[in-house]
Amino acid sequence: MRIDLHTHSSVSDGTESPAELLASAREAGLDVVALTDHDTTGGWAAAEAARPSGLTVVPGMEMSCRWFPDDEPPISVHLLAYLFDPLHPAFAAERARLRDERLERAERIVRALAADGHPVDWDELVTHAAGGVVGRPHIAGALVRGGVVGSVEEAFGTLLHHRSSYYVAKADTDVRQGIELVRAAGGVPVFAHGRATKRGRVVGDDAIAVMADAGLLGLEVDHPDHDDGERAHLRRLAGELDLIATGSSDYHGTNKATPIGACTTDPAQYERLVAAGTGTSPLRD
Ligand code: AMP
Ligand code: FE
Ligand code: FE
Ligand code: ZN
Repeated sequence: MRIDLHTHSSVSDGTESPAELLASAREAGLDVVALTDHDTTGGWAAAEAARPSGLTVVPGMEMSCRWFPDDEPPISVHLLAYLFDPLHPAFAAERARLRDERLERAERIVRALAADGHPVDWDELVTHAAGGVVGRPHIAGALVRGGVVGSVEEAFGTLLHHRSSYYVAKADTDVRQGIELVRAAGGVPVFAHGRATKRGRVVGDDAIAVMADAGLLGLEVDHPDHDDGERAHLRRLAGELDLIATGSSDYHGTNKATPIGACTTDPAQYERLVAAGTGTSPLRD
């Protein structure tokens, strides 16, 4: 069994449609793949319609959250959510708020870039973000197409870096509230790439323990942005806190170099995750 529990389609900031992504999963020899677009379930129906037989699809999402330390600015936390009820009203409303927040924040970044002579065609950018979830990868693409930078990677290394003066933080959900919403909707909350230091500041083990008390059920251990030491640390922590340990590629199509299936989840851990999810079921034969 090869199981990849974290992928993005063009409904958020990946480059393949849900149908293309499932075909890629099949080609890569996966048996189970989770679709986890940022802050939306917009790809679920297309994934269900296009699912090739023999491939199990886990409906999911990656929720934009924040941890609030006592004496530091908030830290970005990505919360994977699986098998929740997409119609749970409070959770659906919070997802909609996050998408609105993304749009406003992208407009602010684009305006500041344009004011300094780095033009971005906003209408064209929105056309490329056809899935409705706007993120820095869409701004990066627009900067490349406008000839401002040579590549998406260069855009993230310069103008769009989290330490760039153009960076604008989003008003993401307090992760404790995020965990509560996912659980209230019958879902399984898993802390994504918790030690990915190249993305910015990361939370400490004390914060992860607080999240576990709040209802967190898993930690993403094997992830392309974690080195061996970080994986060993998270695996031990998952054991100590009795959390499900997952592994996944965080596939984004050609927006990132990582192939689908680059990291995978142990079948026994996957079974725990499926047993904990009551809001919806995996799509399978
Ligand atoms: P945002 O949520 O709008 O702040 O953008 C974060 C997203 O940017 C992540 O989900 C990744 O898809 C993408 N990303 C972050 N760093 C890079 C990078 N160095 N190269 C390409 N994409 C990146
Ligand atoms: Fe992304
Ligand atoms: Fe993420
Ligand atoms: Zn992701």
